[in-house]
Amino acid sequence: MISFSSVQSTAAAAAGSTGLLPHYDFHKLSFSLPSKPTQFRCYSHRRQQGLRIRAIDAAQPYDYEAYLINRFEQSTKLKIAVVGFGNFGQFLAKAFIRQGHTVFAHSRSDYASIAQSLGAAFFFDTHDLCEQHPDVILLCTSIISTESVLRSLPILRLKRNTLFVDVLSVKEFAKNVFLQVLPTHFDILCTHPMFGPESGKNGWQNLPFVYEKVRIGNEDSRFARVENFLDIFKKEGCRMVEMTCAEHDKYAAGSQFITHTMGRILEKLQLDSTPINTKGYETLLDLVENTASDSFDLYYGLFMYNKNAMEQIERLDLAFEALKQELFGHLHEVLRKQLFGKAEAGMRSPVLAKLPKNGTPLLPAQSETLENNDN
Ligand code: NAP
Repeated sequence: MISFSSVQSTAAAAAGSTGLLPHYDFHKLSFSLPSKPTQFRCYSHRRQQGLRIRAIDAAQPYDYEAYLINRFEQSTKLKIAVVGFGNFGQFLAKAFIRQGHTVFAHSRSDYASIAQSLGAAFFFDTHDLCEQHPDVILLCTSIISTESVLRSLPILRLKRNTLFVDVLSVKEFAKNVFLQVLPTHFDILCTHPMFGPESGKNGWQNLPFVYEKVRIGNEDSRFARVENFLDIFKKEGCRMVEMTCAEHDKYAAGSQFITHTMGRILEKLQLDSTPINTKGYETLLDLVENTASDSFDLYYGLFMYNKNAMEQIERLDLAFEALKQELFGHLHEVLRKQLFGKAEAGMRSPVLAKLPKNGTPLLPAQSETLENNDN
């Protein structure tokens, strides 16, 4: 015979130390048997089989475990409002929905049917969107429109501790805008998934995801919410990189901005595939494809809103000039040899000048030195 107290202790043991014991009223069990005499008669034989009752009791811890897991999973699900439902917003929303999160979408253009086909709810009006009280407002707008979009949101309609996240490809700008526009009761997480619909089309495994927890209110639930959001990218296999927005922008100007610039220069050359493509050439064609599918607004934003981008344009210019000088210098030498024979033997060959290391300011004096070196 199993007593109610032993049932309770079994269930409590199954709950472990989580403290998430569901409200089971065990005493109700004793009253749940049919009360009409006829029914008693009907079940009287079964009542002798105490084992049946024990079987129900024994099953509870198992069901309870499943119940707990389910409850835990539900508690990690977020209501995410994607503001800016263009190319990248839709791309991210697919992953959110796949992982069981609720997605609300809003954009300048009408994406209602696309949202519906993905399993998201589309809101034309930002008031209606904010009244859904999303846990997260995710800004996926173009870099150049971000500030005006953020300022246009009726943030008074949101819960006071809503988490604001951005995915802008420039980070210091996003962080400053958030800090300037949002009252201190909102949480701020700045992120940059270092991939897009093209480079991430076959999965996000090992692709870098950069983030900075800019401002998170001092409550366990708010920390947990940030972790739940970051978990979306961890679960997809991203390589999570925590760094400041300033560090990100420095690295990104020297890598991402250069990549996009080279892709756009090559695009202007209108490269065609040939029957004898080398592997290197295939890589260039891939680069054009990768960058050309991004909007010009995105590229312009990388330039305008990252203070390190201008230096990279200048470095590219200098590097190209230096390379041309090295080539033409060699050509010049060959021609002189042909013209003047051995008379000039022993003259030094022109050598490509090295640019100062990335991050070293390109002072006018240095660029002059470069030119002088190659004269
Ligand atoms: P995008 O051209 O940078 O942004 C397009 C989005 O911005 C669309 O949702 C568009 O809304 C909205 N938008 C543009 N101008 C607007 C305006 N004046 N007012 C309101 N909304 C405006 O292209 P994207 O590729 O979708 O990128 C979105 C964000 O994700 C950018 O901040 C970008 O830096 C970042 N990001 C992109 C990638 C990528 O690979 N694409 C990767 C990482 C991060 P409508 O479509 O409704 O017009």
